[in-house]
Amino acid sequence: MPVLLIACPDCGHEYRTLVAEGARVPAVWVCPSCKGRDGEVLGEVMGTDHPWAGASMDACCG
Ligand SMILES: [Zn+2]
Repeated sequence: MPVLLIACPDCGHEYRTLVAEGARVPAVWVCPSCKGRDGEVLGEVMGTDHPWAGASMDACCG
């Protein structure tokens, strides 16, 4: 599943959001830090660099 990297222009916070396969990408990104709704998509995070790295989710996508 793609993980999008979002940047909040209001507070400068960068955060990652998991987008379910086949799901519509939300038009509004709400910043978890300041609740701002102007988040911008910087790009897609590849590889193991996602919020669940190290968690027990290895049984995926074999
Ligand atoms: Zn923010």
